[in-house]
Amino acid sequence: MTKADALGPVTTLDLHFQAEGTVAAFLVQTSEGPALVETGPESLYGNLEAAVNAQGFAMTDIRHVFVTHIHLDHAGSAWRLARHGAKVYVHPRGAAHLQEPGKLMESARRIYKDDMDRLWGRMESIPEGQVVALADGQSVQLGNESFQAIHTPGHANHHITYRLGDGLFTGDVGGIRIGDGPTIPPLPPPDIDLEAWADSIQRMRAVKPRYIYATHFGIKRDGATHFDSLEDNLVRIAGWVRERMVTGATEEAMVPPFQAFMHDLLAGYGLPERAIEEYEIADPAFMSVYGLARYWRKKEPGAFPA
Ligand SMILES: [Zn+2]
Repeated sequence: MTKADALGPVTTLDLHFQAEGTVAAFLVQTSEGPALVETGPESLYGNLEAAVNAQGFAMTDIRHVFVTHIHLDHAGSAWRLARHGAKVYVHPRGAAHLQEPGKLMESARRIYKDDMDRLWGRMESIPEGQVVALADGQSVQLGNESFQAIHTPGHANHHITYRLGDGLFTGDVGGIRIGDGPTIPPLPPPDIDLEAWADSIQRMRAVKPRYIYATHFGIKRDGATHFDSLEDNLVRIAGWVRERMVTGATEEAMVPPFQAFMHDLLAGYGLPERAIEEYEIADPAFMSVYGLARYWRKKEPGAFPA
């Protein structure tokens, strides 16, 4: 196992999702004990536990779990920590799904089919009393550390970015960034909203974060550059899909050329093949075709022949 990257109270836990350095959870040590931001998928609960143990803690020590949103690579193991007694913090629009995850799992199964269990594992309900919905701007004080919820829709309508000191836990709305590569927006259905996303980037920038704690992946020490690249690539990627849709391309037909486009875009930054694969693991390109197509059809009904 590689050594965990740490900054002040925050330690990156690598959950080893198909490769090193693709999906993280973060352990935050406070004077009231350790908290987690993100949990990874339930299929990797064992890896999460091993990583927490390696930092000197048991799962039962974790009383507070913050999730940026309820997608399975972020909140999949939240219910397991709740079984050990933890409280789970979430956006008000995500709370019901943690209490009753049936619909969430059903829609994921439609996408992943037989790969569902292997990739994501199970999700069981969390009792209402252990789910805490956080309003925009609301803070949770744990001893010497304060976690502030900033509502940041765009990737998902129920997305929260957490501010801790000089840093931001940006979930998926802050983009995917492997190593020092470019920042790429993950654009899965059903909630993609580019206007909301642009506003959310402004909200994150307004905090002037020195550090970005990226779920995909790790601690970034250059807040402003990180968002420049994200804004740039949002426009490029969304524009590519819209252009094809105008000519009548279907989602299915767009997937292979989109994968080639994303490959070339990443290669254009000088990334080696291995890093390009890691981006694909953290954010499968085909999902973005479906997420963007849904967004454009809703935004410009009648603009596209197919
Ligand atoms: Zn994600």
